[in-house]
Amino acid sequence: MAKKSEKVVVLPCSGIGKVYGALARETTYELMEKVRPGLAVTTCLPLLVINDPEAVALVRENPVITIDGCPKDCAKKSVEAVGGNLAKTYQAIKFYKEHKELKPEGIAEVNETGRRLAQVAAAEVAEEIDKLAAGEEA
Ligand code: SF4
Repeated sequence: MAKKSEKVVVLPCSGIGKVYGALARETTYELMEKVRPGLAVTTCLPLLVINDPEAVALVRENPVITIDGCPKDCAKKSVEAVGGNLAKTYQAIKFYKEHKELKPEGIAEVNETGRRLAQVAAAEVAEEIDKLAAGEEA
């Protein structure tokens, strides 16, 4: 069993101009602000790209869940590139495929339906966060 964690990093991709990038961010905010405040933390993806020591230490020392907006998997690859502790990966479109009644729209931020989908996604990701925090595999 892995060691228990006081923080689990949720890392959305930058996803500028893409609805699923916006959904990945909204899901992360939902987790940090409402669903698992204090346990779910994040950082700016570009900080990993420029090898910022604090951001790199955060993803090496804590389990990381990535949420990407498209198959290019920028968040996942950025964590791998710095030797981060990648525990679970998602592509945000998965949540829509499983909840077709909640079609997200918007690119800067998602619409009301997208916010509801982010709440559903956050509830699912929270289960993985809890496992990782308890030292189990996600
Ligand atoms: S994974 Fe896709 S949507 Fe996200 S930053 Fe990369 S190219 Fe953009």
